[in-house]
Amino acid sequence: MNEHYLDNAATTKPCEAAVAAMMRCFQENYGNPSSLHRIGLYAQQEMDHARKVLAAALGCDVREILFTSCATESTNMALRSTAAAYGRKRKKIITSAVEHASVKQTLRHLAENEGFEIIEIRPDETGTYRAGDFAAAADENTCMITMMMVNNETGHVLPVKEVFSAVKRRFPHIITHCDAVQAFMKYPVRPYQLCADLISLSGHKIHAAKGVGALYVKKGTKLRALLLGGKQENSLRAGTEGVPLIAGFGAAVEALAPTMESRFQYVKSLNAALREKLNQLPGVRILSPEDASPYVMSIIVPKIRSEILLHYLEQKGVYVSSGSACSKGAGSGVPEMFGAAREEADSVLRISFSSENTMDDVDAAAEGIAAGQMEIMHK
Ligand code: PLP
Repeated sequence: MNEHYLDNAATTKPCEAAVAAMMRCFQENYGNPSSLHRIGLYAQQEMDHARKVLAAALGCDVREILFTSCATESTNMALRSTAAAYGRKRKKIITSAVEHASVKQTLRHLAENEGFEIIEIRPDETGTYRAGDFAAAADENTCMITMMMVNNETGHVLPVKEVFSAVKRRFPHIITHCDAVQAFMKYPVRPYQLCADLISLSGHKIHAAKGVGALYVKKGTKLRALLLGGKQENSLRAGTEGVPLIAGFGAAVEALAPTMESRFQYVKSLNAALREKLNQLPGVRILSPEDASPYVMSIIVPKIRSEILLHYLEQKGVYVSSGSACSKGAGSGVPEMFGAAREEADSVLRISFSSENTMDDVDAAAEGIAAGQMEIMHK
């Protein structure tokens, strides 16, 4: 049976360049970068190169890149540091209502334990985010604003640049954090253009390994360490660095960066083809708007629970995810905010592409969903 992996927003297959870099670090450059001998130096050079590649991709200084174990660590560090360093008197945090759990739960922690007021901005009734709604909520008492660039469930693109630049213009003291996990290497992510002080990134969403992430930290922004111990990463993240994973992250970015635009156009063509096919299926509704990231498509197949259809598709070698049930059955509420009716929320399926996908995968997904509609509905 052919395999059709269409769950790339969950994780991606590591690319050849990433695997080669990781193997090199496992087999040859296996030293501890803190060691003073040559073997340690080789490991340090692996990290230096990866940092240089990430800095080039973001258009920032190498000293502004901090390696972490995942984007969840990056967002935790960004939000908790900002709260600690800038939130003694300013207790208001502005965010979108559709953030990933790593941001949502950290903000909830700050609200419950440290007295922060969290202002969640919802999209309008058409599922659109207006920059003005965020900017209007900002004031002297606001400590930070955190918003994602691309939503991981639906692909909606949020107006980060418009919001951050408007907010910074009026309140330069407000720290801006962007969760760019689903945008990086798909859209230009340039901290300077975005007016972002902090940006969270993840390796495994861009064909590197799981267990590595990064945080962009604008020069001068105060950070607090979450892990205490050695002096790694400027004493901001103690613990021997995951050199193979970091080198793999750098290699993936290096391999993908030159083809970002062509891959985007290619994935857009796959997305358009799938849209066309799904539009012919009775009742199927595409929740993701045309201007969403082409890498993520959220659909509603009415009257069929997403888990049932997911496992039906799995039998046909098509791997997708159930859009709304990210935490073991508890819906995130994101599809509803982007226009799904309450009764549709259990029928949301997320199909997510990478440039490794082909028209074959599109055909298999569309045919699988059509067959699933017939078989499951008539059982
Ligand atoms: N932010 C977004 C938008 C995501 O999609 C994810 C992963 O699903 C994360 C953060 C967390 O990333 P990681 O798995 O690297 O912790």
